[in-house]
Amino acid sequence: MKVFLIYGGKSAEHDISILTAHSIVKEIYYNYYDVIPVYITRNGEWIQGETLLEPVKYSDFLRLTPGDTKQMALEKDQQSTGIIISPAEVKSDDAVIFPVLHGPNGEDGTVQGLFEVLDMPYVGCGVLASAAGMDKIVSKQLFQQVGLPQVPYVPVTRFDWQNQQEEFLQRCEGSLIYPMFVKPANMGSSVGISKANDKDELLAAIEVAFEYDSRVVVEQGIEAREVEIAILGNSDVHASVPGEIVKKVDFYDYEEKYINNSVDLNIPAELPDELVEKLQEYAATAFRALDGSGLSRCDFFVTSNNEIYINEVNTMPGFTQFSMYPLLWEHAGLKYSDLVEELIQLALKRYSGKT
Ligand code: ATP
Ligand code: MG
Ligand code: MG
Ligand code: MG
Repeated sequence: MKVFLIYGGKSAEHDISILTAHSIVKEIYYNYYDVIPVYITRNGEWIQGETLLEPVKYSDFLRLTPGDTKQMALEKDQQSTGIIISPAEVKSDDAVIFPVLHGPNGEDGTVQGLFEVLDMPYVGCGVLASAAGMDKIVSKQLFQQVGLPQVPYVPVTRFDWQNQQEEFLQRCEGSLIYPMFVKPANMGSSVGISKANDKDELLAAIEVAFEYDSRVVVEQGIEAREVEIAILGNSDVHASVPGEIVKKVDFYDYEEKYINNSVDLNIPAELPDELVEKLQEYAATAFRALDGSGLSRCDFFVTSNNEIYINEVNTMPGFTQFSMYPLLWEHAGLKYSDLVEELIQLALKRYSGKT
């Protein structure tokens, strides 16, 4: 069977996707699959090439950090050795698509819609779950409906911001206290997110967030530990133990996530058993509320007096060998290669309507 591994993408999370693709390429079972890498450039061109399959060229790839000049060279290399294809050319009868794209255009249901139209099996969440999970406003509304605890928030559209700025600021200050977190509705890897400690910072933060999306959400900032649960399955949902992101900074932003690497993962997170069970139940509830399939990573805040708040669900979480999602499953005894295999099998089952 062929596996189209689709990576890169027209998104601020392009570089992370390349790292994930490289991890998968090293670990997938080649005795079962013929891997065809398809690289999407930052401009949205689809390029099919074999370069990702030549490990020599990429031996120190994982040591590179996003934005690294060497990586730029690498991408150029990918572009020059591949051929530009039309997205529809991935259509094939004996194939499954493994999209490892993060953020807009990859994790938000758009590319999943293309795979639906092509009538092909693909790994991960479908159109609805991807779109709803990527959108922080829509997912908060869905979580609210199924009774999941979350921090107070105020959504705003660009139109409202342009026309009723003062009213909106008053609404934020009336229902939330500083610090607040301002986020574009559709994004990931902390891109476009800022912490605002006062009104001036709030104004600036909102302007930044609107550079990424036409809808923005302002959230109550809280002092809390950050723990994440990995979800695997279709209708039969499995929740992992929680893993904790141990931060040396108070805001886990893009630089800290991928460049400074100032984060340790603690697996399993040290939490009382009843809290673990609650987190697992909440994670499964959130996944079902979105109509998830395949995989997701559910992110929570846990305060010092053990209150839980759901932060978000990432339907295509970071998936390098050093990422929380695969490490959580490794802790449960499912190694990276088997996890990749399980995700492909879940995609095939979902496609054939079995689960
Ligand atoms: P991901 O890479 O997980 O997709 P994201 O871009 O979707 O990230 P969030 O997870 O919502 O963004 O926020 C990024 C980080 O900002 C969090 O991991 C946390 O460190 C901090 N943060 C976000 N919201 C809050 C909040 N309400 N209170 C305190 N810290 C917050
Ligand atoms: Mg996210
Ligand atoms: Mg994300
Ligand atoms: Mg997050």
